[in-house]
Amino acid sequence: MTGRVHSFQSMGAVDGPGLRYVVFFQGCPLRCAYCHNPDTWAFSGGQPVTVEQVLQKVRRCAPYIKESGGVTLTGGEPLAQPEFAAALLAALQAEGFHTALDTSCAALLAAARAALEHTDLLLADLKFSTEEDYRRYTGGSLSHTMEVLALAGQMGVPVWLRHVVVPGLTDGPEHAARFAALARTLPTLQKVELLPFHKLCLHKYENLGLPFPLADVPAASAEHLVSLRAALGNLAD
Ligand code: SF4
Repeated sequence: MTGRVHSFQSMGAVDGPGLRYVVFFQGCPLRCAYCHNPDTWAFSGGQPVTVEQVLQKVRRCAPYIKESGGVTLTGGEPLAQPEFAAALLAALQAEGFHTALDTSCAALLAAARAALEHTDLLLADLKFSTEEDYRRYTGGSLSHTMEVLALAGQMGVPVWLRHVVVPGLTDGPEHAARFAALARTLPTLQKVELLPFHKLCLHKYENLGLPFPLADVPAASAEHLVSLRAALGNLAD
């Protein structure tokens, strides 16, 4: 079983609990306006690797990650390579590693189900709170995202939501109320990580010769998180 991977990070500390080995999948079907990994978009990029090759890399880090951390698949979009993602998650679980799947949920339900069967924690982006904004700023669908999240709930998979707070787009009180209402429909939700928008990715867009759609939007400050924190209460990280 072979997939395409953009890169590996051996000691990730921000993609799930504890110290983690992080596998960045290559290829993403969405085009989020604030994406900080445009270099992972092209399905033709990255390097081909087998499940066994990834396992060999992960095993070398076992002393650091096995007890309180684990392995996180992210991207790009891991579920855009559903067979590879599911096979890798299954193999990791079989060797006793905690598995986290970081996804935009832009995947067929059957593909999501196969991966979730071997996922200990779902790190899921809930990017906007209306269908219109979802389509406009990501190319994806809110209703489909909620279907995947509901599936995780039915399957009993714990969920951490991740949400980028963008000044002028996702920092207002109306959005905060809608977002909190959506979050509260998820029976296995454990917490919501609010990620302040930043522009550290600008050089990547320049290198790729791509315009950054939010170039004129200021980085988010603590002030921009206030509405969401208030609406989410103890769910906010
Ligand atoms: S889903 Fe993630 S990788 Fe894909 S465009 Fe959006 S932010 Fe970027």
